[in-house]
Amino acid sequence: MRAIRRLMVRTVLPEPLAALGDLVTNLRWSWHQPTQELFSAVEPRLWAEVGHDPVRLLGEVRPERLAELAADPAFLGLVRAAHDDLQQYLTEARWYQDHDGRAPRGVAYFSPEFGITHVLPQYSGGLGILAGDHLKAASDLGVPIIGVGLLYRHGYFVQSLSREGWQQERYPVVDPDNLPLVRLREPDGKPAHITVGMPGGRVLTAAVWVAQVGRVPLLLLDSYIDDNGPAERDVTDRLYGGSREHRLLQEMLLGVGGVRAVRAYCRITGAAAPEVFHTNEGHAGFLGLERIRELVEERGLTYEAALEFTRAGTVFTTHTPVPAGIDRFPLDLVEQHFGGDNASPGLPVEQILALGTEDYEGGDRSVFNMAVMGLRLASRANGVSTLHGEVSRGMFAGLWASFDQREVPIGSITNGVHAPTWVAPEILRLEEKAIAGGGWKAATATVSDADLWSTKRALRARLVESARTRLRYSWHGRGAGEAELGWIDDVLDPGILTIGFARRVPSYKRLTLMLRDAGRLKALLLHPERPVQFVIAGKAHPADDGGKRMIQEMVRFADDPEIRHRIVFLPDYGIGMAQALYPGCDVWLNNPLRPYEACGTSGMKAALNAGLNLSIRDGWWDEWSDGVNGWDIPSAEGVDDPSYRDELEATALYELLENEIGPRFYDVDGDDIPRRWVEQLRHTLTTLGPKVQATRMVRDYVEQLYTPAADSSRSLNSDFDGAVSLADWKEQVRAAWPLVRVDHVETTTVDTFERGQTLQVHAFVTLGTLTPSDVSVQVVHGPVDDGDNLREPAVTPMTMSERQDDGGYRFDGEVPLDRTGAFGYTVRVVPKHPLLSDDSELGLAALPE
Ligand SMILES: *Cc1c(COP(=O)(O)O)cnc(C)c1O
Repeated sequence: MRAIRRLMVRTVLPEPLAALGDLVTNLRWSWHQPTQELFSAVEPRLWAEVGHDPVRLLGEVRPERLAELAADPAFLGLVRAAHDDLQQYLTEARWYQDHDGRAPRGVAYFSPEFGITHVLPQYSGGLGILAGDHLKAASDLGVPIIGVGLLYRHGYFVQSLSREGWQQERYPVVDPDNLPLVRLREPDGKPAHITVGMPGGRVLTAAVWVAQVGRVPLLLLDSYIDDNGPAERDVTDRLYGGSREHRLLQEMLLGVGGVRAVRAYCRITGAAAPEVFHTNEGHAGFLGLERIRELVEERGLTYEAALEFTRAGTVFTTHTPVPAGIDRFPLDLVEQHFGGDNASPGLPVEQILALGTEDYEGGDRSVFNMAVMGLRLASRANGVSTLHGEVSRGMFAGLWASFDQREVPIGSITNGVHAPTWVAPEILRLEEKAIAGGGWKAATATVSDADLWSTKRALRARLVESARTRLRYSWHGRGAGEAELGWIDDVLDPGILTIGFARRVPSYKRLTLMLRDAGRLKALLLHPERPVQFVIAGKAHPADDGGKRMIQEMVRFADDPEIRHRIVFLPDYGIGMAQALYPGCDVWLNNPLRPYEACGTSGMKAALNAGLNLSIRDGWWDEWSDGVNGWDIPSAEGVDDPSYRDELEATALYELLENEIGPRFYDVDGDDIPRRWVEQLRHTLTTLGPKVQATRMVRDYVEQLYTPAADSSRSLNSDFDGAVSLADWKEQVRAAWPLVRVDHVETTTVDTFERGQTLQVHAFVTLGTLTPSDVSVQVVHGPVDDGDNLREPAVTPMTMSERQDDGGYRFDGEVPLDRTGAFGYTVRVVPKHPLLSDDSELGLAALPE
């Protein structure tokens, strides 16, 4: 029988335990070991049974036990101490409070997914985990961020396996009343609702839930409410499911609804209005449209001025170098949703379409590209590793066709990971000493080789235990009876070199590369003196049969009785499993097709847990691999035949395992300690430790993007006159540009050039209706290749020297010849204005004919 309605009956905590409720609803517990220990003390067995979920713990604990605890002075003391500690964390001045006074008063951070804790399954992979770590690190640093996302009622799926090893998906209902969330309410107590218009006169209404992530509120919009019809209710049903239209509606709710939720939150709580909006991946890009609409309809700006103001305060981060990973919609679908009866008076649909159209060489004019819109709506953009920045500049070069690829205004900030979330307590203690100011070298020097190695062994043993439990559970699901499963007691061995591989399963990550020569892998697993063992996990997107086939191939390989004690596939990779996996691994394997891994963060988490990386030089590893902190698998990039490329890279992988990694790991001294290995671990902790932190990443965002964006937006904001004049100036420049040209260039004439000389350059330019102050005339120079193309061009500005009789101008410049070899130069004119964030902002440049 089905119930017609479901209610949540919440536990009422006895008065002396009231503080426990605050500790549960602030998600800081998810990275604060002492608070977790307090929850465990409520009832250790139950804490394990409820999967370390404090809301369930308090929901299921017997009232008698609560009464007992309420009368236990020792327990009450612990509650008070934890509560005081949380209050201090929430209120004390942190890094941001005595940082740069120009930093923004508030930042809104929009992302389609957030991975905060295993009890909030609102993420599918790296993007969500990164967003979660961004908020946590912002909280630790005191950065006033408001997170904005959607509450998916079925989250992402739970993965299990069929008997044959085929991925099965289950979507359990996520009930917000059972989660550590608080409903946003109006001052009169009514739930705060926001609405977004839809085509056909329909209205999408959403409730707003607040997940408190330490000091940072995360607003989650939820369309599953009675005010909506069934179709609207389903908008937030699941992450990355459904049709194009469904996806578009989700993104409208996230972007447009998200800004409205931020406004409601600030109005109700008095929080400072964000000065900077951060679009984390293209999916959230519609937030810019809503901000433009507000300025046009509520502040009376023109569309152009509103665009300038919005751009100035927007930061866009792109996360994928895989062309298929870019979010694109049919143009007419977007037109249908933002035009017709759903058009906003201040936001003509033609303008919206223009923002996302790929109207450049090689683009497809029938699609609306969310990344292209993201770039056009943001004054500052970045990729997530140095290599990814470079690849992104190439990928979007068409938008700045008149400029060199290096000048494409997309920078990079390399991702980081939140150590307190991902590092085993034993190792975290060490790192906290370093972070607290002791320095990484000194902190790691306080632990002996023997202690570091025995800690690592203990972590490996813990992983072995948890892998056996998960494997047994998986086999029950695959239909095996307990009598068949005795072998699981001997699966994996705490003394064997343990390699981890876990991540989503898109094809570029090549889950099955290691199976290329199954015989060779088997020999490594069963090596008589130097065996290796693998722990593997990953979810394929539900619509990706190719990914599911890879999983099946892996599972079938691991099912083989001859090797199943040395290689396991564990279903349902997620935060909970990851937290046990990284600490227990000696080596973290990553073998993507270079350069498709934008950054990758799992290897960073492994490194912080005293693990070594074995990886293709892609993403972050391309930047920070140093020959001691792990091993590079040589990439056969450029080999066109994909199968041959796989073969080359797989062979290199086997050889490294066989000849370098195995021998190093098992090279132990009389105390049974592999000294050189331990030395590599120490080196990894001291050198990577400070770099891979999410706090380093968030500081970089604050200093390199948020503060300059806040600055720009303030300079446009005295009654928006800056925005108005910038918009007018841009319009004038665009209109005048066809007449701007470089007529003629003269240089010093000598017979031979020698290093150390200076080249005098004179350029004669026509500016039409523009004046010399509207432009920058530049010598672009550097070494040239055989085709006279400038490699690594440098830019030297020229100065105006005289007006010519024909109305043109002469500009002069000097270029030092500081290198020998083939050298070339050209001259160009680009628009110049103090409020432009970059020379290439308008995409305009005039070069000699
Ligand atoms: C860290 C993490 C990821 C990201 O892994 P990549 O290295 O970016 O592939 C994905 N899922 C979970 C659960 C993680 O913890």
